[in-house]
Amino acid sequence: MDKDVLIVGCGLCGSVIARELAEKGLQVQIWERRNHIGGNMYDYTDEHGILVQKYGPHAFHTKEKYLCEYICHYGEWHPYKLTCGAMFDNKYTPTPFNFTTIDTFYPKESATKLKEKLLNAFEGQSTATVLEVLQHPDPDIRGYAEFLFQKDYAPYTAKQWGISLSEIDPSVLKRVPLRFSYDEGYFDDPYQEMPVNSFDAFFKSLLDHPNISIKLEQDALEFLTVSSSGTELFLDGKSISFPVIYTGTLDELFGCCAGRLPYRSLRFDWKYEEKESLQEVPVVAYPQAPGYTRITEYKKLPYQDVRGTSYAVEYPLPYQLEQETEPYYPVLTEESKQQYMVYRGMAEKIPNLIPCGRLADFQYYDMDQALKRALEVLDSLQI
Ligand SMILES: Cc1cc2nc3c(=O)[nH]c(=O)nc-3n(C[C@H](O)[C@H](O)[C@H](O)COP(=O)(O)OP(=O)(O)OC[C@H]3O[C@@H](n4cnc5c(N)ncnc54)[C@H](O)[C@@H]3O)c2cc1C
Repeated sequence: MDKDVLIVGCGLCGSVIARELAEKGLQVQIWERRNHIGGNMYDYTDEHGILVQKYGPHAFHTKEKYLCEYICHYGEWHPYKLTCGAMFDNKYTPTPFNFTTIDTFYPKESATKLKEKLLNAFEGQSTATVLEVLQHPDPDIRGYAEFLFQKDYAPYTAKQWGISLSEIDPSVLKRVPLRFSYDEGYFDDPYQEMPVNSFDAFFKSLLDHPNISIKLEQDALEFLTVSSSGTELFLDGKSISFPVIYTGTLDELFGCCAGRLPYRSLRFDWKYEEKESLQEVPVVAYPQAPGYTRITEYKKLPYQDVRGTSYAVEYPLPYQLEQETEPYYPVLTEESKQQYMVYRGMAEKIPNLIPCGRLADFQYYDMDQALKRALEVLDSLQI
């Protein structure tokens, strides 16, 4: 290869690193196994003229101004607050659950009493985690969290992770907020943005540099191997010493020699209807529905003035390499974390291999975390 650096994967991490290295004057080659750039943030206009996101709904949000500024430097962005909801017992409520939820599911008098109790019990707080509310001594307050746990969180989590209801530990709710107001909006972060045109336009702008070349439908693992000593990378059977930034799964790179890392995958059932609107907000969870967890209606993410509506029904399923499923969410258990550390140890023995990104790090990253990680890796590079 006549380039200075090889980057495996053209998602956010690979693309940010490519751009920064290109700005430094390095010649960068990206190999992407899919037929498009953008990784899981990829979007496109479907046959009905509606911009849809192929791998599920994405909205950028962060607490860090510099990350927001970085992303907004490429392509056009505008502030956008994602709103989400849930449907159960045939009723719709915004999520995170708020006072509208209480008004929807409780008779008027009990609703008023419960809201007052919550405001008193959590005075000065606009939110608390569901776990905190579940552990509250007041039976009415605790009962509210138990109701939500049974109707929503437990059945949703069971489907999402493919486990039985009895296996669900309420500690999974330690970061899930409940609001003590009528405020809506899925995220609380101060910076929330969406591309004006598309994520694809953002990536085109980010990758638009004469020092970057991209090969699509190029699976690095067909060319890239690890030497039998485990200390070198080979390309087409020859040892290479230039840096390889690797954003794919680490177990695959090492031939799954320490077993497969577990991931949860998703199947999207795409539908179109000649109606103005399908559901109240772009993303709605259906905890009681058979098999699927949520539906994303893309004309509302953000609003598009188009006829009809395209939506994706999301079915979680296990990830299996040979069944053309995609690894979306790492299944993080003590065992899988240890297994990952075995692969990480192997990667550390190869000086020019730099793992980065949600797959190579075996972490769930939001976009801002993936961006932050890419910038940190760049800082640590000796090139
Ligand atoms: C359903 C869903 C919804 C999400 N919603 C949000 C949201 O609303 N807000 C938010 O902030 N974040 C969201 N995220 C997270 C977001 O998608 C990630 O943070 C981001 O895409 C991570 O970028 P990455 O570069 O690490 O990985 P990826 O986007 O997965 O990029 C890795 C790329 O490497 C390629 N690759 C892998 N192996 C090889 C190989 N052997 N050869 C060549 N190429 C290879 C892959 O094809 C892929 O394109 C969501 C994620 C999912 C799954």
